[in-house]
Amino acid sequence: MDQLSLKIIKIRKPQKCWGCAGEFPVGTELTRSVIVDQGEFSSDYWCNECEALLNSLELWQLEEGFAMGELLNYKE
Ligand SMILES: [Zn+2]
Repeated sequence: MDQLSLKIIKIRKPQKCWGCAGEFPVGTELTRSVIVDQGEFSSDYWCNECEALLNSLELWQLEEGFAMGELLNYKE
């Protein structure tokens, strides 16, 4: 899988953060990660807190290995 883009957007409909499974309302700024895996595009959303955690633990390469909410296991 390849990560195509990673950018901060204001969501236009409610989204769940993949890392913590928290729900965020319209207008929240979340990081959207777009990946392509075997020709299939998918995008995940990450809240600031989870993104910071991914960055600090350098976990981005494991992104597709996470189940939703599983990042909570990595929080202190
Ligand atoms: Zn989160």
